Amino acid sequence: MLLITCPVTRTDELVSDRRIRSVTNHPTHIALAVECPCGQVHVYRTGRRWEDAVAQRAAGAPVRAAEVGVAA
Ligand SMILES: [Zn+2]
Repeated sequence: MLLITCPVTRTDELVSDRRIRSVTNHPTHIALAVECPCGQVHVYRTGRRWEDAVAQRAAGAPVRAAEVGVAA
């Protein structure tokens, strides 16, 4: 599961992994193109270091991805 903030509605949306349309590996992060419940595809970035920090705070919680704001 992935917790995203929709840039259109400005609401938090919990989306299934299968809504991830593409994953692009970058040296500093991974870009995820996610099909949002609002009907658009948004691009978010995530990374191991960031995910580790999240995991330390709340094991098992959904990953919150940071919005990249660019088209993949
Ligand atoms: Zn959206």
